[in-house]
Amino acid sequence: MIRLRKDFLKGEKPAACQECWNFEKRGLQSERLSPGNMELSNQHQEKIRNEYKDGIVKEMIGLEIRPSNACNFTCRMCTPEVSSSWAKKDKEWQLYPNEANTGLIKAYKSSEELVQELSPFFSGLEFIKIHGGEPLFEPQVLDLLKALQPYKEKVWLRWMTNLSIVNHPFYTSDLLKGWKRMATAISIDGPPPVNEYIRKGLDTALFEKNLEKLQLLGADIFFHISLQAMNIIFIPEFINYILKLKPYRLTFSRVDYPTELATIALSKESKESAYERLLKYQESSSFTQAPDKLKEDIHLLIVESLKILKEPVPQIQEKLWQKLIDWNYRIDGDKSLFTNMIKT
Ligand code: SF4
Repeated sequence: MIRLRKDFLKGEKPAACQECWNFEKRGLQSERLSPGNMELSNQHQEKIRNEYKDGIVKEMIGLEIRPSNACNFTCRMCTPEVSSSWAKKDKEWQLYPNEANTGLIKAYKSSEELVQELSPFFSGLEFIKIHGGEPLFEPQVLDLLKALQPYKEKVWLRWMTNLSIVNHPFYTSDLLKGWKRMATAISIDGPPPVNEYIRKGLDTALFEKNLEKLQLLGADIFFHISLQAMNIIFIPEFINYILKLKPYRLTFSRVDYPTELATIALSKESKESAYERLLKYQESSSFTQAPDKLKEDIHLLIVESLKILKEPVPQIQEKLWQKLIDWNYRIDGDKSLFTNMIKT
């Protein structure tokens, strides 16, 4: 970490951060340039340059934490390492037979241990980002937020959620009120039937109900789509759907692994027809009424999707497609679910 920090201070681009450089080369927003990270680094540029030349951090202003992989979903492109439910199910599915399946992983043994280790830094914190699993499925997250209450007026809270947990104290208590700013990143991988298929465990009605609750609490809603073989052909329907839900911003990434879930598993014909549909959609005016930032994000998503749909089709495409069918068959125990979803 010290070497990385020094490289950044010298203006170098460390190879370990290649994923961000690749994103930025394509004119896209990488994780390091995401709104929370950028605001924080801009505010502290001078201090960082003058006081942290040796790469050693003496105080913590931003904290990114994954207390555990506890999750109630088994999204198709997720892994046993990131979701405890995946870890459980994969004992039967055997889709990651060569990876260590460690089940439920917790960064700290208890809430007390977590709070004890982090509390010395609380008074200096300005930004905290909480990842899962599904954070609300992990009781330690609630305890962490309770411990942070005295500091929240100057802290920007950002958390990721699958938006599935209802009747949770998180929504009904004052825990979410009074933060300097609150942003919620929500994964959404297609229009409702596709989203429900990919994000296994999702119930659209609950999802929309919880979204409303969060919007009433004043959260900035960031939607995130993981572009993959199962959703890239539905981008026009996806955009129409999210426009109704009124997020604040939209971000996206690409699924590259396992390869059969990536967009290279699509046939030439599917890609060509999706390309034509998206091109036509782009020329229509459906999203021009969106607020400026969201409109820009949608435009970037369309441009990137069009680029992806123009990528050459590899010789192994048919094999990858069969592997994708098999992947879903192992999860569903029924091939027709995937075939029906892809035809919607
Ligand atoms: S909600 Fe997130 S952590 Fe849970 S299975 Fe889906 S992608 Fe993985």
